[in-house]
Amino acid sequence: MSNDAAKRTVGFIGLGHMGGPMAANLVKAGYQVTGFDVVPAALEAARAAGVAVAASSAEAAAGADVVITMLPAGKHVFAAYEGDGPGGGLLAAAKPGSLFLECSTIAVEDARTAHEMALAAGHHSLDAPVSGGVMGAEAGTLTFMVGGTAEDFADAAEFFEVMGRRIVHCGGHGAGQAAKVCNNMILGVSMIAVSEAFVLGEQLGLTHQALYDVAANASGQCWALTTNCPVPGPVPASPANRDYQPGFAGALMAKDLGLAVEALNATGVEASLGRAAEEIYRHFALDGGAGTDFSGIINTIRAASHAAAPEE
Ligand code: NAD
Repeated sequence: MSNDAAKRTVGFIGLGHMGGPMAANLVKAGYQVTGFDVVPAALEAARAAGVAVAASSAEAAAGADVVITMLPAGKHVFAAYEGDGPGGGLLAAAKPGSLFLECSTIAVEDARTAHEMALAAGHHSLDAPVSGGVMGAEAGTLTFMVGGTAEDFADAAEFFEVMGRRIVHCGGHGAGQAAKVCNNMILGVSMIAVSEAFVLGEQLGLTHQALYDVAANASGQCWALTTNCPVPGPVPASPANRDYQPGFAGALMAKDLGLAVEALNATGVEASLGRAAEEIYRHFALDGGAGTDFSGIINTIRAASHAAAPEE
């Protein structure tokens, strides 16, 4: 696939919270993007951002060199690739040899299956999940974790560079999703650990700032503490300072930890903290935390401890 003169055209499937701004950034960078979403409001928002709107996924893919999918879960990816109806049929509709960039967060096994489906249909394919959230999607500063061949990775780099800032080739097919699930298992566990430490500190008479000043510069340092601090005050930009508005929603953390447990079960890895984090965030999401930032888990821990937050 050439990377010269005329810019390649993009079909963008799934124009939701993430896909909408990602497609808009490709338009801003001068790409001709044709998009489709099964929800009309998402299509209208994309149209306003300069995306050409198709009547179906197949139509969006038919004229494209590169097909990007940004869908909720693995079953949606399979439906988009091979299903019937306006949201389906991508693999058959795309020109042979098209490049498929599957950016949704899905199970590692599902990502490998999606690759096989794309390859069997005569296409190139990468799994390329992201981190950085809606703000990163809007700002074009996402991190892309990519699995697939070195040739396809090099071929796709220009698109990742428009939508993201850090792009890591993690290995072969499925390696991008593997990196994402491992990273988010670290994140879920570490946010719970930081939150438990703050609640313990409260009950031991420590101020939030004192614990922060020590741990942020000691061996307790981690992203959950120094960027997404679960108590208001020490890190002014963290969601705790705006009543836990996300940020990274509890529902997404619960989803990602569910994928981690799927991977743990498939591989037989003993990971008691990862499994505990999945259970804790599953309940958090079911009990009202789905739409709040995942750092709101500290309030659940405090409530379960029958402890009150101190006056700061
Ligand atoms: P979203 O629900 O806002 O968007 C998904 C879109 O896909 C929806 O608009 C839906 O209508 C559309 N869709 C579903 N099936 C379709 C089909 N067959 N054809 C066309 N459109 C279809 O979700 P989102 O927040 O944009 O997240 C997308 C993916 O990115 C998820 O896998 C999520 O886990 C991942 N992710 C999200 C964030 C975040 O902060 N929102 C961060 C990192 C990764």
